[in-house]
Amino acid sequence: MTFADLGLSPELLKAVEDAGYTEPTAIQAEAIPPVLMMKDIIGIAQTGTGKTASFVLPMIDIMASGRRRALMPRSLILEPTRELAAQVAENFEKYGKNHDLKMALLIGGVQMGDQLKALNEGVDVLIATPGRLMDLFERGKILLNGCELLVIDEADRMLDMGFIPDIEFICSKLPETRQTMLFSATMPPPIAKLAKTFLSNPKRIETARAATTNKDITAFKVHVEQRAKLSTLQWLLRNDLVETAIVFSNKKMTVRELNKKLQNDGFRSGEIHGDIDQNTRQKELERFKSGDINILVASDVAARGLDIKGVSHVFNYDTPWHPDDYVHRIGRTGRAGAKGRAFTFVTKSDAEAIDNVEKLTKNKIAVFGKDDVRVEIADPKASKSSDDDGEKPEKSEKPARRSRSKKRDEDGDTQDAPREAKKERKPRRAREDRPEREGRPARTEREERPERAEKPEKRNRGGRRRRDEDDEPVPAGEWNGPKPGFLDMGFKD
Ligand code: AMP
Repeated sequence: MTFADLGLSPELLKAVEDAGYTEPTAIQAEAIPPVLMMKDIIGIAQTGTGKTASFVLPMIDIMASGRRRALMPRSLILEPTRELAAQVAENFEKYGKNHDLKMALLIGGVQMGDQLKALNEGVDVLIATPGRLMDLFERGKILLNGCELLVIDEADRMLDMGFIPDIEFICSKLPETRQTMLFSATMPPPIAKLAKTFLSNPKRIETARAATTNKDITAFKVHVEQRAKLSTLQWLLRNDLVETAIVFSNKKMTVRELNKKLQNDGFRSGEIHGDIDQNTRQKELERFKSGDINILVASDVAARGLDIKGVSHVFNYDTPWHPDDYVHRIGRTGRAGAKGRAFTFVTKSDAEAIDNVEKLTKNKIAVFGKDDVRVEIADPKASKSSDDDGEKPEKSEKPARRSRSKKRDEDGDTQDAPREAKKERKPRRAREDRPEREGRPARTEREERPERAEKPEKRNRGGRRRRDEDDEPVPAGEWNGPKPGFLDMGFKD
């Protein structure tokens, strides 16, 4: 299947080629022909599947004929967040570069002047968040009765954010004869009801949950105590070959605090969450995209659906409360064929939340274990001699216990485990020189994991490992350094 088979115009095919796409994704192949035939669509798909182009491309061809009128947008794309709206606008500009179409972006948090000017001049495609659109509509600055095509994107997120009444209102102001497309990663009852009320004989298209079936994402859970989360994160950021990472937290306050702590500890990090004004959010994103910073601490709302290339790691600093958020979060990595690693921190109180994630994804997430550690092999001799002093292994075996007697910072976070591990680490070789597991065949089959997790559990029986077990020879590629505390916790699971 090629894009030319889908019935798109030569101008669009050229733009698609310039974008570097050679083949339509599954949702594009299924959605584009019926959209061009003016059919209503329900797309069960999430970001990462190519869903944006599945509606933007045919929309461009549909809008290519017709006339713009002041204050009366001809089509409307509703997005739950400003970032997503801005991202769709970028897509629109990329694919629509060979067409004479006017687009306007109507989002909160920025000055209204330019947006009103564009509306006055007439727009073919209006991309908006519901809040700002309602605001302008109520002030009589926009008329919706010329809008013949509507896209409701990320409908389940709209539901989470309380936008459904706004959307119902907006739909009621649009002409009855129109084309409507609704995209959602999941179909909870209120969304199904919305679709039933406002779509007419829709074609239903469903794509696989990209993030959960994505073979390019290696996902782990890390059992950790609340107070050890920060040190665990820092250890992983330093030792898991992190190039770029998004760290998700459930709360805005944690996002802010965590970013501050990471910055204080020398990490190049930034933050985005709902309390930050739009310009700053956009700037932080740009800094992340340009490589100015390589760690972005984020809340779900701000980061939902963000399409940032080359994110090597996702950390769920908190297990997400909504299992769907897990799918969205880890979907920020492993994009466009690149490999990614996703770590989810699980405290005792997260038992139910992680259970819900595993139920939704129909997949037991592997516990991060010793074999999954990517630090450089410790020199067995060096490790032996340090063992000989009779001190170190003792310490390294029990970082959690030791830290209890130490002073903690205001959140009760401790630094012991990562610091000790760091001491042992040899300077890293360039990434290209380092196959994922040196000296062993790459492991691809997930089924092998439970076995690995079991082994150390036996070692831990009786509370702690025997000292001499650290002295055992390990195969090349295994980590022979001191073990951070969170690994012990993981092994117990
Ligand atoms: P989306 O699901 O719309 O967020 O798209 C995810 C990413 O896939 C974006 O970076 C798109 O530029 C990219 N993309 C969309 N369609 C294709 C395609 N047919 N081939 C390759 N990449 C694509």
